[in-house]
Parts: sequence; structure tokens; C-alpha cells
Amino acid sequence: MILTYKTQVLVVGSGAAGLCAALAAARNGAKTTLIEYQGFLGGISATLPWLGFHDRDYRLLVKGLPLEIVRRLQAVKGASDFVFDPKCGSTVSIDTHAWKIQAIEMCEEAGVHVMLQSQVVDTLREGDRIVGVIVENKSGRVEVRADITIDCTGDGDVAARGGVDWEKGRTADGLVQAPTLVFRLGGVDRPAFIAGCKDPANNYREWIRPYPDLWEKMVKRIDSMDAIICGGFAPLMEKARAAGDLDIPQTRVVGVKTHRPDEYLVVMTRVLGLDPTDAGSLSLAYSRIYRQIPQIVNFFQKYVPGFAGASLREIAPMLGVRESRRIMGDYVITAEDLIDGRVFEDAVCMGGYHIDIHRPAGTWVDSRNVQAYTIPLRSLIARDVDSLLMAGKCLSATHEAVASTRVVPICMGQGQAAGTAAALALAQGVSVREASLSTIQDTLVAQGAEMGRTLEEPNWKVIEEVGQLPLVEEESTGDRDMASSTQLAWIR
Ligand SMILES: Cc1cc2nc3c(=O)[nH]c(=O)nc-3n(C[C@H](O)[C@H](O)[C@H](O)COP(=O)(O)OP(=O)(O)OC[C@H]3O[C@@H](n4cnc5c(N)ncnc54)[C@H](O)[C@@H]3O)c2cc1C
Repeated sequence: MILTYKTQVLVVGSGAAGLCAALAAARNGAKTTLIEYQGFLGGISATLPWLGFHDRDYRLLVKGLPLEIVRRLQAVKGASDFVFDPKCGSTVSIDTHAWKIQAIEMCEEAGVHVMLQSQVVDTLREGDRIVGVIVENKSGRVEVRADITIDCTGDGDVAARGGVDWEKGRTADGLVQAPTLVFRLGGVDRPAFIAGCKDPANNYREWIRPYPDLWEKMVKRIDSMDAIICGGFAPLMEKARAAGDLDIPQTRVVGVKTHRPDEYLVVMTRVLGLDPTDAGSLSLAYSRIYRQIPQIVNFFQKYVPGFAGASLREIAPMLGVRESRRIMGDYVITAEDLIDGRVFEDAVCMGGYHIDIHRPAGTWVDSRNVQAYTIPLRSLIARDVDSLLMAGKCLSATHEAVASTRVVPICMGQGQAAGTAAALALAQGVSVREASLSTIQDTLVAQGAEMGRTLEEPNWKVIEEVGQLPLVEEESTGDRDMASSTQLAWIR
């Protein structure tokens, strides 16, 4: 038997993007349903710190609902202060449990109807209109009909099953960024770790090491940092590899020393060749990655300063897929739009995080710095159909551009914009394409969002204290487009 349920706005996927889309739609008066496959809200945002609220001029670019979420977490000590960073703009370390609880509370307060442990398995399409989805859960099959659907699955599942155009991976070979299952270590000796970071021989922060002025500033600030971003320590990994202690397709220590005094989040497992839309490929990725974890824990204990007494505390509940299907929309955002800091007429939110590509066929990352950019409403509207929007990882953007727009705050900003646009279009009795753009933009601004109208001047005080990387940096080193030392990394 199929149960039928009717809603105005349907959001599929409750990650950073979907949660904000659902909250914004409900707060703007639409009857809203949020469907989530997992048994918790937050998706990947509930597993790691949030990067990129600020741009390279240390200006707050992501405001509105995402900022409200952070402030509310900070008020109950569920998040650190913002820590400024020359590569990432800023980071805020999140208590992931507090975030999951707050996310449920916020949905209840806004009146969002939440369906957990419910998987969308098909899309309902009538002519050019997407009119809902089919869900499978413990109750059986449920038909959810909606006036507007927002695909925030990260995988573009609703779009793909509704016959909407999508792309996946880089143009040449379709390979997506390497995925990572993150895990946490407890029992870290913070002072010893910091001493290791300060030792130039360890090359703890690869991006800033070539700039002595920035390095000096970092050394001065690091003791007082609430969260310490790490991407480096390559000499330690080389030593471990030479000793036969490490055989993973990763050549840098990547992670974050969180705001908990003894905790470190490890972002180092990886496989190459994953197809995130193929169940067999996903299963193989999990089994490879679980086997990497003990090796990496042992590496930390044996080689990284401050980790001799550390142990495994928690493995994240879901694989971190950095890139999957990107739904093609009325506009496709490009890397040039971000590097040039483009201001679109139909801007609905902003971003300024660098293009951060975890190499699909090599190790480490490719990175390019960007200027504060806007995201146009057209990139949230699926092409050639009515009634389908998207936000988050499946935004209409190229492989390169999504490597910047994918971070948590920027996904949240897109979600707020999509949810608000959907609710306002319904209130006007028109499609999102036909809705008044100025009403959408004015409402978003009134609800705190930033699209360039209230942007501050560069934060000269922080630029002086933290320093600034050049817009065009030297090429980063590392293996490029080849498997690292182990072919075991490949799952295709
Ligand atoms: C390993 C890793 C490290 C990262 N590090 C950082 C970092 O330190 N800071 C930062 O800001 N960003 C980081 N990012 C980027 C960022 O976390 C993600 O890109 C962002 O959270 C994606 O949000 P989203 O809402 O688009 O997707 P997701 O968080 O993937 O959410 C999608 C949701 O949809 C659900 N879903 C999927 N399919 C279905 C379906 N068919 N039916 C029902 N539900 C479905 C999923 O269960 C999931 O909850 C990292 C990403 C990865 C993978």
C-alpha cells in the first residue's frame, strides 16, 4: 500500500544545505517537509568543523541563518569562537552532538515536518514539472507530493531520478574528489602537539611555510587558538612510509585540533575512483577505508608530537563524499566567477573559501585562492523543468567551482536562499523563475543574509595580526594525477 502525503515545500537531504532550506521555507510561511535517509540531521556538517564564514580579507560573508546557527551553538558552548586563518578565512569548531540536538530543536520550532530514516527512491514527474518523490521507510512506500522540491541530497538523487541533466566529476575522466571518512582521536597532549607545529622541520602548515612573515604570526597566535587547522607534516609521513608503517594514498597530515583540549579530528583516509552513486563502489570504499584507520592511528601514536597517548574516540557515521552529481541549472558557476569575485544581478548569497580540490587521482590537494563572490539564484534552479531547486554539493557549478562552494557555511547560505525563494514564490502563486527577484533578495537581506549589500571593508586589524596569502600563490607540491604509493587506493 502507498501512503500519500502532501506538502508545499519538500526538502530532500538534511545536510548543511537541506536543513537551512527547510528552516527558511518554514519560517517564510510554507508547509515544509524534510526527508532524511540517516537517523540524525546535519549530514556531513555534523561530523566536522565549519570553514569559510570569512573571506581572505577576513570579512564575514556568510550571515543570516548560518550565523544564527553558530551564535546559538556558541551560546551553549557548542561551538568555539571563529579562528581566523590565512588559507581558509576562518574556522569554527563544532560540538557535533550539540549541533545534532540543536538541528532537531530548530526544525521543531519552525514547524518543519521531519521524516528520518526515510530514503527517496524515485521522483514524481508530470510533463516538465517535478511534483514530488517516492520514499521508502519502515512504514513502506510513501508518496510525498509537493509544490516545490529542493534537492539537497548532495548526490542529486531527486534530479537524476526525475530525468534532469547532471554532471559528475571532472570533464576529462569523470573522477570526483577523493572521499574521506573522518574520525576523532582523544587523549592528545595539546602543548606537545603545538610544540611540534612550531618546529619548522615538521612543515606543519604547508601553505604558510613559504611566507616567513605569516609563519611568525602563526607561531605567536597558535597557543591561544581554539581550533588549529593542520595540513602538512609531510616529513613525518615520509619517515613512516620509509619504515613500512604507512601505506595509504595520503602524503600530508590533514585535520583539525578541535576546541576540546585533548581531541583531534583526522581527515586522512581516502580512496581513489569512487562512484558515489554506485552502491558497490560505496561499500568497497568503506571496507578499504576502515582498514586504513588502525594504520593511521598507529602513525599518529608513533610519529606525531603529542599523540603518544592518544586513542581512537569516534568514527563518523557517514562517509564524507566531497563531490557527486552536480545538477545543471539555469546558470553553471565557474572557477573564473569565483576567482574574479563576480557579483551577479540575481545574487542570493556569498562565498569566499578557496578552491580546494582533493585530487581525484593523486594525493594532497590543488588549491586556488578566490575573491569574495556571489551565488546567483539561477544556479539554484534546475534547468528545463519547473518546481525543482537545489542547494549544497549538488549546486549547478563546475567540478572546480564546487570545490569552493561545497564548504558548510556556503552550503547553508545556498539552503537559506533556496528555501526562502521557494516559500516566497508559493506565496506569490508563481514559479521561482517568475517570482519577484527583488522581493526574494530584500527578504533575504531583511533576514540577515549577505549578498554584497552590507559587506564590510577588509578587516585590516586581522589582516595585520594574521597576515594574508597572495591571491595567486605558488603551486602547491605533491603527487599530481597519479596514484600515490599504493595501488590499493583504487576502487575501480
Ligand atoms: C571529508 C570531508 C571533509 C570536509 N571538511 C570540511 C570542513 O572541515 N569544513 C567545512 O566547512 N566543510 C568541509 N567539507 C565540506 C562540507 O562538509 C560538505 O560539502 C557539506 O557539508 C555538504 O553539505 P550538503 O548539505 O550539500 O550535503 P550532505 O552533508 O552530504 O547532506 C546530504 C544529506 O542528504 C541525505 N540523502 C542523500 N541521499 C538521500 C536520499 N536519496 N533520500 C534521503 N536522504 C538522502 C544524506 O543522508 C545527507 O544527510 C568536508 C567534506 C568532506 C567530505
